[in-house]
Amino acid sequence: MELRIQLIPTGEIILAPGKNGENYCHSCKVVGSDGVRAMMESALTARDRVGVQDFVLLENYTSEAAFIENLRKRFKENLIYTYIGSVLVSMNPYRDLEIYTKNHMERYRGVNFYEVSPHIYAVGDNSYRSMRTEGKDQCILISGESGAGKTEASKKILQYYAVTCPASDKVQTIKDRLLQSNPVLEAFGNAKTLRNDNSSRFGKYMDIQFDFKGAPVGGHIINYLLEKSRVVHQNHGERNFHIFYQLIEGGEEDLLRRLGLERNSQQYQFLVKVSDNNYTDLNSRQNQINPFPPGVSSINDRSEWKAVKKALTVIGFNEDEIEELLNIIASVLHLGNVQYGGEDGTACITTDTQIKYLSRLVSPLNLEQASSARDALSKAVYGRTFTWLVNKINASLAYKDDSSKHYSVIGLLDIYGFEVSKTTGNFEQFCINYCNEKLQQLFIELTLKSEQDEYEAEGITWEPVQYFNNKIICDLVEEKFKGIISILDEECLRPGDASDITFLEKLEGTVGGHAHFVTHKLADGKTRKVMGRDEFRLLHYAGEVNYNVMCMSENKILNQCFDREELSDKKRPETAATQFKASLAKLMEILMSKEPSYVRCIKPNDAKQAGRFDEVLIRHQVKYLGLMENLRVRRAGFSYRRHYEVFLRRYKSLCPETWPNWQGKKQDGVATLVKHLGYKPEEYKMGRSKIFIRFPKTLFATEDALETR
Ligand code: ADP
Ligand code: MG
Repeated sequence: MELRIQLIPTGEIILAPGKNGENYCHSCKVVGSDGVRAMMESALTARDRVGVQDFVLLENYTSEAAFIENLRKRFKENLIYTYIGSVLVSMNPYRDLEIYTKNHMERYRGVNFYEVSPHIYAVGDNSYRSMRTEGKDQCILISGESGAGKTEASKKILQYYAVTCPASDKVQTIKDRLLQSNPVLEAFGNAKTLRNDNSSRFGKYMDIQFDFKGAPVGGHIINYLLEKSRVVHQNHGERNFHIFYQLIEGGEEDLLRRLGLERNSQQYQFLVKVSDNNYTDLNSRQNQINPFPPGVSSINDRSEWKAVKKALTVIGFNEDEIEELLNIIASVLHLGNVQYGGEDGTACITTDTQIKYLSRLVSPLNLEQASSARDALSKAVYGRTFTWLVNKINASLAYKDDSSKHYSVIGLLDIYGFEVSKTTGNFEQFCINYCNEKLQQLFIELTLKSEQDEYEAEGITWEPVQYFNNKIICDLVEEKFKGIISILDEECLRPGDASDITFLEKLEGTVGGHAHFVTHKLADGKTRKVMGRDEFRLLHYAGEVNYNVMCMSENKILNQCFDREELSDKKRPETAATQFKASLAKLMEILMSKEPSYVRCIKPNDAKQAGRFDEVLIRHQVKYLGLMENLRVRRAGFSYRRHYEVFLRRYKSLCPETWPNWQGKKQDGVATLVKHLGYKPEEYKMGRSKIFIRFPKTLFATEDALETR
């Protein structure tokens, strides 16, 4: 027999017979003659050992040290999840934990947030229930830096829905497709990087659509900013997108023959070349061979290949379509092997691969231009193939039932975290960080707003808390006419003498005095020695990052090479930056219309190792995820709130008048109960549907009373 008790805030303590049949507390490893008493005692010491399961309960809640200490305690016990109110903080354990079984899923189904230990399933379940009971669309925003566990978290939520939501045959097909969209997108959009062996190189927003019975019936994916530059070069120790290696390692002999590929990734320039910088510098790169073998220990390209092919079939690709897709992938590899020669400084193709459309581009170009045109073409081809793939998946996930168009939605956002690097950032990093500024802005607006709304709805007065509003930085980037993107547009699209330097000068002229913008120029006309003349620095909410202007306008080359014709029918062509700005604005609109939940992922160390708690690294993430601020906001008002019904159900046994059943209004029952418990007036407030408790210790005392009753 197994006996479980649920402790707030420590989590779960399990008592069950040990090896010799004695009472043994599995959670605390205590063998007791009187098992129940041992369990209770160990439970109380466990509270010290495993920390609190909600940071709101920390006595010293303004102390970052106390916050980190709580994370450390829990991490040591493999308790990777902790709440800040309803926000879930998740630490990547870098090891498989036995906490994602079907039993676990069942345990979180329909259970109140605070009644079970923190878990990603609780977040999934909570959103699902809010959607069902309140009829409001939901979204779950998952953030954190590369390798922190965002993609794994989003997959866990998807699996949770696939297992626990009602299903019919038709629904099963959609569930399968939803699940199988992951391996496909990961094959084409993920790569090994220094930070993560399976790093998503694109941002993803996925809607899961549910019918009136709560069954998943469709889905839709929007992808953001695929890191196309990876197609043509990778940094030391990193790889190109998984699909290239999967195809070469796993592809059947016949297939490879048809595609003209050899089973040796070292044959392909795009897979062996490495580069330490962000520029296309073909001649210096050509002789560098990637010192890391193409195989990655945690990745099995051959078995992944099988999984991807199966997934493509489940999604609905037929044989011809799969072959077509792979043909494009192969042609990118061939394209990469095109080399240029030409004695007089002009370029001509010296390899005999016939690529007519490329030769058309080459004639008026010099060597460097030809190489960069080739790389740009490869990136464009790959990027468009990826978009096509997403569209195909969307067609296969589309909700096709005409009889009822109505459905509710839970959106999952898995998007790249803020990137601070010691080296100078490029255009893609600029976009990523801008995106994170926008998400932080959304977080500020929605958490503060929802907090405020709740007090208002419940008729409770409160004092607002001070916080840093990063709107000023968002404006610096995106404001019409005066923002960095506007200026970049102008310079990119201006014919004539526009260059990186004129761009930087324009920036200085327009936003030079901005508190979050820095260049080598000092106000008194002198120069800042530590900064290059071709870069500017942004003081992001999460840290400082330098950006190179040359990389910023890289999209200009792209525009010139390829996009001009396509864009000519528009009044004014758009730069990549403007397109990104528009897609972000759309995303914010989508998210704003939904009720948000947050998962904040933290990476414990840079070595991808289990059990290692790197305090400096973690403190940095706590800072830029704004967790301390989040906690302060949560604590500024009332740290706990419970529906009267839930509160009464949990504590009614503590008062003779409410036990075993309170007959009157729940609110009156709670009033009677807290009076009996001796709550002081300043400790709580009674709202319209909930009791608000100001200090955690009040709740602690009540919990203790329950335990020692
Ligand atoms: P991100 O998407 O934030 O860059 P991932 O979700 O890809 O990071 O996680 C990186 C790696 O960390 C995964 O491949 C996996 O090995 C490990 N990992 C992440 N979350 C978990 C988890 N909950 N349990 C076990 N391992 C995890
Ligand atoms: Mg990811």
